[in-house]
Amino acid sequence: MKNKTVLMAGLFHETHTFIHHKTGLKEFREGGISIGPDVISNNIGNGSPADGFLDYADTQKWSIIPAIQMMANPSGIVMQEVIEVFYKHFFESFEQHCADIDGIFLVLHGAMVSEGSDDVEGDLFREIHSRLTAKGIDIPVVAVIDFHANVSKDMTNFSTCLYSYRMNPHTDARKAAVEAAALFGILMRGQKSTQHHLGTPYVIPPTGLATASDPMKAVLARARAIELQDPDMLCINVMGGYSYADIVDCGFSLNCCTSGAASVAQGYLDELLLVFEANMSGAYPKEAALEMVLKRIDTEPRGPGPILLVEPADNIGGGTPGDGTGLLSPLLDSGRKNIIAILNDPKAASQCHTLKVDDQVSLLIGAKLDNHHGAPIKFDGTICHLSNGQFDLENENSHLASMVGTHIDMGLCAVLRNEQVTILLTSRKTPPMDLGQLHSQGIRPEDADYVIVKAAVSHKDAYDPIAAGSYNVESVGLCTSNLKALPYQNLVGKQLSGD
Ligand SMILES: [Zn+2]
Repeated sequence: MKNKTVLMAGLFHETHTFIHHKTGLKEFREGGISIGPDVISNNIGNGSPADGFLDYADTQKWSIIPAIQMMANPSGIVMQEVIEVFYKHFFESFEQHCADIDGIFLVLHGAMVSEGSDDVEGDLFREIHSRLTAKGIDIPVVAVIDFHANVSKDMTNFSTCLYSYRMNPHTDARKAAVEAAALFGILMRGQKSTQHHLGTPYVIPPTGLATASDPMKAVLARARAIELQDPDMLCINVMGGYSYADIVDCGFSLNCCTSGAASVAQGYLDELLLVFEANMSGAYPKEAALEMVLKRIDTEPRGPGPILLVEPADNIGGGTPGDGTGLLSPLLDSGRKNIIAILNDPKAASQCHTLKVDDQVSLLIGAKLDNHHGAPIKFDGTICHLSNGQFDLENENSHLASMVGTHIDMGLCAVLRNEQVTILLTSRKTPPMDLGQLHSQGIRPEDADYVIVKAAVSHKDAYDPIAAGSYNVESVGLCTSNLKALPYQNLVGKQLSGD
């Protein structure tokens, strides 16, 4: 039997539609643009979903035609120039090879919004489907997608099978790609299937989507049980969704791919929605005021390790600038000491690089990108470390590997210290998903009293094991869990809070 030939591509962005700054080719070049054979060489062994797919393809002796892969960190609306580059390379490759391929495999995020489209992935599947149909070609089009994808009906109507990560933090991103590839193999061998989709009114903030807690834990457990009990079910995807997208498909949704009856599949999705609704009390958590948290810390017995002051309002993995001072500023004002914080501030980092280690500095740091994330802080202290900001993940299954692989580039970095705080300044915003970020810069969060963590859930695998306690703390920022504070216009009839 002839070995299968597969056209492969990747397009990865989680788009925060309220962030003022748009995301262009500059940001995608920083995140990574690979074209042709570079898609393979840049992914092999890097722990990413694309690596997982390529590894599985190798075991099956599939020939891979790599078209293009583009990714950028979560951020504002994607500029049309990005879509144009992707379409140019992808469809050139498609037109050249479509008569000879056995399938198309895509590594996507699934929550991408561009200047021209609220549903970039749905549009891509529609275009592929329309070109294949026009040529009379019937091959599977399969994608691995992120758990936070805002899945539209077009995404399921015009693809053959979607397969999402099952874990948040996304420790299973590579594994999910391998499982998606295995299903892809079955579909390329001729298995017939249909996809089914159920949208819901629930738009849940990232803090409500940890898969170790309900409601996601309960829904995912039932989805896995259905997959096991029904041999027709190829996969069920529980989509947490991404709340900071002002689009009609925003939020929690369910979909599945089955070789069985449509009515049975729809029944499963309806049942899973009921499981969600029966367990949804944890879907809309509220952050606590810093003052209350500090009071509690002072009165409760405490074990070894730092207290994590988690700042979801400036959740870097959710798209905000990572330079917010809304929590650091009042924490410094409270007189607390032995604090660790990370701020993305390329300007301040490059100022430090004109000086040397042990020099004294007086700088304005943070809150420079927009007006939503506090005011700059006047910092006086010492430079204690300077670097180019490169590090390798300590945990190669870190959530961060799902986005960019295991080698991370934070750009020029500087570590500043005074009697209260140690601050890592980065030049490229880097979600705090792996302790290698701090250890590589000579900082030991294990020895701190307080660590500010700009995240919602994705930090947990790295930080929770070293912490004496963890609190989600109120702050200012566009990733606030108080979704009602955001100026949505397209979410008519959706539920944004637990109240
Ligand atoms: Zn995600």
